[in-house]
Amino acid sequence: TMPEEFTRTALPGRVVFASGALARLGAELDVAATRRAMLVVAARDADLAEKARSSLGDRAVLTWTEVTQHVPAELALRATTAALDAGVDVLVTIGGGSTTGLGKAVAVQSKLPLVVVPTTYAGSEMTPIYGLTSDNEKKTARDANALPQLVIYDPQLLATLPPAVAGPSALNALAHCAEALWAAGRDPVNDAIALDGARRIHEYLPAACAGEDLGARGQVLLAASMAGTALASAGTSLHHSLCHLLGGMFDAQHAQTHAILLPYAIGFLRPSIDEPVKRLASCFGVPADQLEPAIWRLARSAGTPRGLREIGLNEQQIEQAALAAVSRQLPSPRHVTVRELRPWLMAAWTGEPPS
Ligand code: NAD
Repeated sequence: TMPEEFTRTALPGRVVFASGALARLGAELDVAATRRAMLVVAARDADLAEKARSSLGDRAVLTWTEVTQHVPAELALRATTAALDAGVDVLVTIGGGSTTGLGKAVAVQSKLPLVVVPTTYAGSEMTPIYGLTSDNEKKTARDANALPQLVIYDPQLLATLPPAVAGPSALNALAHCAEALWAAGRDPVNDAIALDGARRIHEYLPAACAGEDLGARGQVLLAASMAGTALASAGTSLHHSLCHLLGGMFDAQHAQTHAILLPYAIGFLRPSIDEPVKRLASCFGVPADQLEPAIWRLARSAGTPRGLREIGLNEQQIEQAALAAVSRQLPSPRHVTVRELRPWLMAAWTGEPPS
């Protein structure tokens, strides 16, 4: 049979993936003829700052260390002003998705080129999507300036990633792979990338979380990059939009929210995503009707929190989220009503095993 028709626009950007790749950062900046970098690194990630500075040498003219989750708009504005005042010609971020996110917002506002060294599995470095939060709402937008010109993946940097961060972060990547299979912009090339990412996460995450297996962490990092690539092209759908809603409304931790919601979201959408569910289940080596429990077990083995109540949300907030999801008309392959949302959001709140 003839393959389906599709259109696809690939995104630009250079990727260097190698164990020890951070050492190449300075030389890469030289090739790009950038001389004055603002290094963005969270104060809490002092080890990463040290490593990045030693690779940048005197190219680092300014270091910005104030980083918080979900990129408050006023913080982005202050960082942008600092970058422009210092006359830097490139932004270099090293850290998780929160750090990358601040770099992206500054890149959009300043039009400076962006170089990202990711140290979690958020995958945001492969997308032109950036978010800004103000008045308890996280708004995301696409902007070509938010896409890094260079991404340096160095699996060695993930050696220090605590399992409590690694597990949810990898489930966040799995959610990107999953949703890319049914989001509005999907296509068959993108499906292949997403499915390979999902397969690697299933195969390597337990070892990546368990101990010192740097190879396994590298595999999950590669999967995270594929997940970001797939998300960038396909876009997002109900699961992701709900996570953003909970993040913006209640400051729910991003990766943990993804890790908790994913199996329940798939359970709800299942009647509308028959084929993607089959293909995703094959990545887990289970029959299609066993996908949700398989994801749930992977999340357990990676030590992610079980329910939204464990990460500080209360029942009233679940109700508010269900109402907001419907009033904001979140994108979804299945029609969403409060009556249908409530039970599975409540299941995700208590963390009971999905059937
Ligand atoms: P994060 O960046 O907040 O990092 C989580 C924790 O891990 C932090 O405490 C950080 O200090 C620590 N950490 C990071 N790397 C480490 C390392 N190598 N060793 C030790 N500790 C380390 O969390 P995250 O899950 O990476 O990112 C979440 C954010 O990313 C959210 O705001 C989300 O919206 C955003 N995101 C955006 C996109 C996009 O396309 N725009 C995609 C995915 C995620």
